[in-house]
Amino acid sequence: MSVELGVIADDITGACDVAAGVTAAGLGAEVRLGVPRADEAPTEACVIVALKSRTAPVAEAVDESLRAARVLRVMGARRIYQKYCSTFDSTDDGNIGPAADALVDELGAAASVGTPATPAVARTMHRGHLFVEDRLLSESSLAHHPLTPMRDPDLVRVLGRQTSRPVAFVPVEAARAGAAAVASGIRDLHAAGVRHVLIDAVEEGDLDAAAGAVADADDLLLGGAAGLAVALARRLGDGQPRRPVPAPPGAALILSGSGSERTRAQVAAFRGPRLDLDVDTLATDLDRAVAEAVSFIDRARGVPLISATADPAAVLRTQKQWGRERAAALVEDALAAIAAASIASLGVRRILVAGGETSGAVAAALGVSVLRVRRVAAPGVAWTTATDAAGRELDLCFKSGNFGATDFFSAAFEEDG
Ligand code: ADP
Repeated sequence: MSVELGVIADDITGACDVAAGVTAAGLGAEVRLGVPRADEAPTEACVIVALKSRTAPVAEAVDESLRAARVLRVMGARRIYQKYCSTFDSTDDGNIGPAADALVDELGAAASVGTPATPAVARTMHRGHLFVEDRLLSESSLAHHPLTPMRDPDLVRVLGRQTSRPVAFVPVEAARAGAAAVASGIRDLHAAGVRHVLIDAVEEGDLDAAAGAVADADDLLLGGAAGLAVALARRLGDGQPRRPVPAPPGAALILSGSGSERTRAQVAAFRGPRLDLDVDTLATDLDRAVAEAVSFIDRARGVPLISATADPAAVLRTQKQWGRERAAALVEDALAAIAAASIASLGVRRILVAGGETSGAVAAALGVSVLRVRRVAAPGVAWTTATDAAGRELDLCFKSGNFGATDFFSAAFEEDG
């Protein structure tokens, strides 16, 4: 299988976001959790390596990204795409800039070119400024993100703080004039010394122009959120959206460890059986809390939700009490243990997980290494099939905190009638 697009994603839900989009656009995709071995043959034209590098120490993020790029090259990837969040989640230290610098050098590329704009989920970029729905990034809920608060909407400035190399943007007028105009914009900026080029995009057609400008350039590191990857897939794929595969049999479960605004609304709107986890209780006796949750799942009628999702004030309280990292670890360990125990003892085979870090913890506990898209559940969200460490076939949906409509926790299961 020749790999048209090799993607290095900085978290697991971002990887699934790309997988959902490119599959729907007609390019088959598989997600590898962690850097695969170089001798693991690719089975799809788009191979996405899911790292946990968004908030990792800079050196670790750079090292993992480089290892992923090398393996993707050995697999024969014709294009390397650095996938980051559509809200450009990062800090002044990185990790988008340092990883891009290192990847450009590794690939011998002339520059990095990309955009976080993803109009399908209302992320647009104009004059180098990122918007989330109708607000500037800095006026959205991302300004208060606990790990990567985004308080500056000017991405030239934001990325400029993460790299010593010059950054500039290609304006939306170029995208409106077509791929050739974007390509010439990129060339002009490169000739002027720019080494990281961001491309304005407000509509899906702008992304198609950007994709047209870069798809066949073999001297560029491509990058951005799912939007540009999907536009590339429209050019590189066969145009045939993959047919959804029916869900495997087995009981289902929802786990939520996300604190995002959207997930809070999804938890509040959920009408099925729900058990809330309390961090104080987890800290006192984690094993007992896990056992109680498993018993709740066993007795539940309908798909149950086990949730640690709380409003920002409550999260702040538990973080003050237990420390941010310990509170997060307690929630992640508990949800991961509940997932593993429900699979082993209750016959659960289908799990919807809300939250990026939470998804990473659950996937690690289950020992899954490859995810294949079974069905796109919502923009940026897919049900995927995977085999766990014990050889059981699972149906997993890893949802980024801010994705999915308010009724997603029930709508996601609707295919089963
Ligand atoms: P999102 O995709 O919405 O950012 P994540 O799972 O990536 O969601 O991040 C949420 C983090 O918050 C996780 O590390 C999780 O363990 C932690 N967390 C969840 N609920 C609580 C809570 N009630 N108190 C403290 N931390 C929490």
